[in-house]
Amino acid sequence: MAVMPQDPQIAGAGALLAILRDGRARTRAELAQLTGLARSTVSQRLDALMQDGWVVATEDAISSGGRPAAAFVFNESVRVVLTADLGATHARLAVLDLGMSVLAERAVELHVDRGPRDTLGRVVAEFETLLAGLGRELAQVCGVGVGLPGPVDHGTGRPANPPIMPGWDGFPVPEWLGERLGAPVLVDNDVNIMALGEHWTVGQDTDHLIFIKIGTGIGCGIISGRRLHRGAQGAAGDVGHIRAVLADGGSAGDAVCRCGNIGCLEAVASGASMAAELRAQGVAADGSRDVVALLRAGDTRAARLIRQAGREVGGVMAAIVNFFNPSVIVIGGDIADAGEHVLAGVREAIYSRSLPLATQHLTIRASRLGDRAGVIGAAAMVVEHVLAPDMIDQSVQARAVDPAAPVG
Ligand SMILES: [Zn+2]
Repeated sequence: MAVMPQDPQIAGAGALLAILRDGRARTRAELAQLTGLARSTVSQRLDALMQDGWVVATEDAISSGGRPAAAFVFNESVRVVLTADLGATHARLAVLDLGMSVLAERAVELHVDRGPRDTLGRVVAEFETLLAGLGRELAQVCGVGVGLPGPVDHGTGRPANPPIMPGWDGFPVPEWLGERLGAPVLVDNDVNIMALGEHWTVGQDTDHLIFIKIGTGIGCGIISGRRLHRGAQGAAGDVGHIRAVLADGGSAGDAVCRCGNIGCLEAVASGASMAAELRAQGVAADGSRDVVALLRAGDTRAARLIRQAGREVGGVMAAIVNFFNPSVIVIGGDIADAGEHVLAGVREAIYSRSLPLATQHLTIRASRLGDRAGVIGAAAMVVEHVLAPDMIDQSVQARAVDPAAPVG
């Protein structure tokens, strides 16, 4: 992007918008008081924000006496965000406004093993259908967030050796989608965006949260200091390949994992491993959803496996609680639908093996968002990026220099 000449009068517009994002309407006088800026400076910045539609004027009804003063409020509906949470065989897509309200969404069957062009082409078509249903256009899209079921290089947004996504390694997902959707595209792995979604539901008061997904595989997303912790190579949170210590003191030593090691948590406590165990016992079960369906139908073998899996996940999490000291642990993924059957085991292992100081104020619960955690989290990721004060400053500066410049 070209370096824009800086207009100091509007350079702080992004910071002003950040104040208004809580949804409260404020007058110029209130904003001047909050920021310590001259009222004329506040006015110029508000004008720049209004020109781009980020802020709209309203009338302050609670103004004391006389004519109501003009108040200004964040315009959540001025643009929309598109998000897609891709799993191995299913995807969920959504359109949200900047206040994180879901305007439209749909779940579709979509197989990522058909390669990136086929899969992403379908994602573009689904987005266009959702937008058309809302009477919105691509020009109103300010950003796109995508979650993929595999490792993603955070710097480039490209998949990095994803095991279940043939043809995707190094594919330029942000560029490919950006060309077709005309907006910046942020990509991360599915567990990370689910962690962002769950963190969004608990609010900014929670600094440290772990989201653990128990589905076909097992992985976790780490929110540290209110930010996603990805690690040096984006591999942080890969708890599925930590060696499991069985709750009964036994060894998971002979369970072979898909990573090639033996005794991994994923090899003994994932939906795939439980389904395999049930098949070995002569029970028809293809994957994690079948395991939960069997539990609900009263199958005691499935119930025993799920409780045991909870204890094994808890055993690994107990070490992580001691090491990381989160205040919230959220359990998601298909197996989380087993509710207390899995949560009880997780709690039991964590409370018996973590230090009391670390568990004193620890909340362990099932996901509140369920299947929607990914699309909500991807939207949170995009909104934070698009509405970051320096991005807003760039956007209003570009418009001040060239009124025909695209917004957002
Ligand atoms: Zn492994």
